[in-house]
Amino acid sequence: MKIASVIVDIPTQALDTPYSYAVPDEGVGEEGLAAEVGCAVLVSLGGRKAVGYVVALEEAESSLDEGVDLWGNPLSASKLKMIERVLSKPYFDEEGAACAQFLAERYVAPLSSCVRLFTPPGAVPRVVRGRDGRWRLEEPTVGQVDDRWVTRGPAFEGFEPRKNAVKQQAVLEVLAQGDARIAELSQEFGAVDATLKALAAKEVVRIERRRRMRGMESDGAFKPSQAPELTAGQQQALEVIEAARAAGDGRVVVVDGVTGSGKTEVYLQAIERTLAEGRTAMVLVPEISLTPQTVARFRGRFGDAVAVMHSRMSQGERYDQWDFVKSGAARVVVGARSALFTPLANVGLIVIDEEHEGSYKQDSAPRYTTRDVAAWMMKRTGGALVLGSATPSIEALYGAAKDPLWSQVALPERANGRPLPAVEVVDMAAEFSSGSRSMFSGRLTRALQQELSQGHKVVLLLNQRGFAKFLLCRDCGFVPECPHCATSLTYHEEGSKLVCHHCGYHVGAPPTCPECGSPYLKKFGAGTQRVEADLRALLDGMSGVGPQVPIIRMDADTTKAKGAHQALLEEFGAAEAAVLLGTQMIAKGLDFDDVTLVGVINADTQLHLPDYRAGERTFQLIEQVAGRAGRASLPGRVLVQTYEAGDVAIRAAATYDRALFLKSELPKRKALQYPPYVRMANVLVWGKNEDEVAAEAEALHRALEELVHCEVGERWSVLPASPCVLGKLRNTYRWHIVVKAPAGDDISGPLARLFRTRKPHPAVNAAVDVDPVDLL
Ligand code: ADP
Ligand code: ZN
Ligand code: ZN
Repeated sequence: MKIASVIVDIPTQALDTPYSYAVPDEGVGEEGLAAEVGCAVLVSLGGRKAVGYVVALEEAESSLDEGVDLWGNPLSASKLKMIERVLSKPYFDEEGAACAQFLAERYVAPLSSCVRLFTPPGAVPRVVRGRDGRWRLEEPTVGQVDDRWVTRGPAFEGFEPRKNAVKQQAVLEVLAQGDARIAELSQEFGAVDATLKALAAKEVVRIERRRRMRGMESDGAFKPSQAPELTAGQQQALEVIEAARAAGDGRVVVVDGVTGSGKTEVYLQAIERTLAEGRTAMVLVPEISLTPQTVARFRGRFGDAVAVMHSRMSQGERYDQWDFVKSGAARVVVGARSALFTPLANVGLIVIDEEHEGSYKQDSAPRYTTRDVAAWMMKRTGGALVLGSATPSIEALYGAAKDPLWSQVALPERANGRPLPAVEVVDMAAEFSSGSRSMFSGRLTRALQQELSQGHKVVLLLNQRGFAKFLLCRDCGFVPECPHCATSLTYHEEGSKLVCHHCGYHVGAPPTCPECGSPYLKKFGAGTQRVEADLRALLDGMSGVGPQVPIIRMDADTTKAKGAHQALLEEFGAAEAAVLLGTQMIAKGLDFDDVTLVGVINADTQLHLPDYRAGERTFQLIEQVAGRAGRASLPGRVLVQTYEAGDVAIRAAATYDRALFLKSELPKRKALQYPPYVRMANVLVWGKNEDEVAAEAEALHRALEELVHCEVGERWSVLPASPCVLGKLRNTYRWHIVVKAPAGDDISGPLARLFRTRKPHPAVNAAVDVDPVDLL
């Protein structure tokens, strides 16, 4: 008999541990199916049935000797229940199980949520309670789809259809070119079933079912591309990656290359070499830049060996791509962060493009950091991790500077030799004091007129991360800050107060500017629709521009529908003079030759977010969006409107001077105890009842203080429980408690011990966000 450790897939608040079940040597059920690691199985637990996943198998004797299973649970063989049914082939192997356990520990997450990352999308059975109150097994709704195909049969050569058999002739002509899908033949020639049946009877053709690979056909047409000769910089980057791969100990290479420097070409050639050694590769890109063009670049080089995985695909498409990877036929996976968990075997290289992007952090359990999980994986398999960006995160720069396994290589020039566009800062406070009340400065207005009237394109960015309202003095640019945290205070309509969301400090909103006495204290936060309306009015009245110049708005609203994002970009590409107005999503990946002007309407809104990364994000955003201008022969210019013209993040971005930014930012991070100098965990507490949430947050705060006091002492700090910046979301109240530990410490272990033993509150949820990307 074997003993299986099974993670039961019941969503509960409490962090789960695997349960042990017996597996008879002859297999499970009448068919005697093997319950291998990675299989979905049916088990009973506490009087109900449940689906679970096998994460380990052991011979009964050996584990019984020790009296505990692999996970340290006491065993008692006679009491063990049997696995009742095996529901699937293995979804993952021991390595996947190990990764799920790593995720659960590191991110203090339920094991079931970690294991689920490894299962095929939408295609796992579930146990549900029916109307009659009974549990029953629900088969997956997503599965494979077959198409009927017709191919040439043994009698194809030399077969002469009769002169009047028009359909036969047409079909045979198509077949002379290659196999055909029957659905397509019918579309072209009308019903062909009778024709095909007749031909099949004479063995002229054969009809067969073939699995359709959804997610391939839409962008299946790709042009093969040849690898260009690398520039000297690219060659050097490739060599550093090759050395990292050869070392085989999980090295990390930060490829720090300006926008358009040819990073993607470096990835392509590094992947080519990885494949040549018989290993496989993964490329992760931010969801929004995973466009058909991106995919086409990889398919152009690696053809049908490329699988694609992202959340805008249908479940059927994702299921097929998952299966394609599982079959071993895919050698390269291109996808968003969750593609990391597709069953690609023998991965020798992981590339994370635009590594600095916040979307690489998962915002529900397990709240993993893609970079750190990928690094863990490459250490396990002896591969290499490449982190590419024009604006690497401070964590990546810090890693490259401090960690002996990390290195950094720079590509300071564009591959086509074009200079980066000049960036001008427009001081909006000065504009205001000279009488302008428009959100478009005089300089931006003139630039719009110049470029659009010449038939050029413009990209305008509305920085929307400043969703939290804050006060700003339109005369002197003053923004009220917390005296204890050096972050800006958030304006609360209720009671007209200013609140610090780190420490809870609050104060009444002042009627006039405390700095200069001006009464023009503005509450900030305008939406894209407002800006679009104002811009329309501006362009309509502009000589040489007028109503015929389209404004293409790209934000969360206009890109909801499948393919909408792509359609908007195509519309912009096809237009002559046009403005693309959008939120952060337009900052990356756009590659249009005739964009000559990039305007940032409000560069500083983000600066005032009560978030320690505000400066870093502002710097990155300006550099990224600037990279959209002047990519080809037309020179580009960038106008950055700000009330904080003197802010170092803005000054540094405008001069492409990262060192200047870091020289100011790093000492602040160190003094105020923020990453990369400390590790943080953000303990989130949320629920429908405000008082209960507050009380539970206070109780957790006490428990955390006691935990830290007993287990680690003064080295760690636990900040007071306070409402989150987004204090109420969809009628849920949110509080948090920030825990800080020295950089090298294991912050997860002690927290996991607390959360695995603590009795969950019936109406208030709590979760830990380890290494959070923000504290909002
Ligand atoms: P990045 O990923 O750094 O933004 P890309 O790889 O997209 O840069 O390259 C920018 C442009 O330069 C692309 O059009 C690409 O085809 C071209 N390019 C890249 N490397 C070379 C090269 N070695 N020779 C010629 N063109 C190149
Ligand atoms: Zn003022
Ligand atoms: Zn504070």
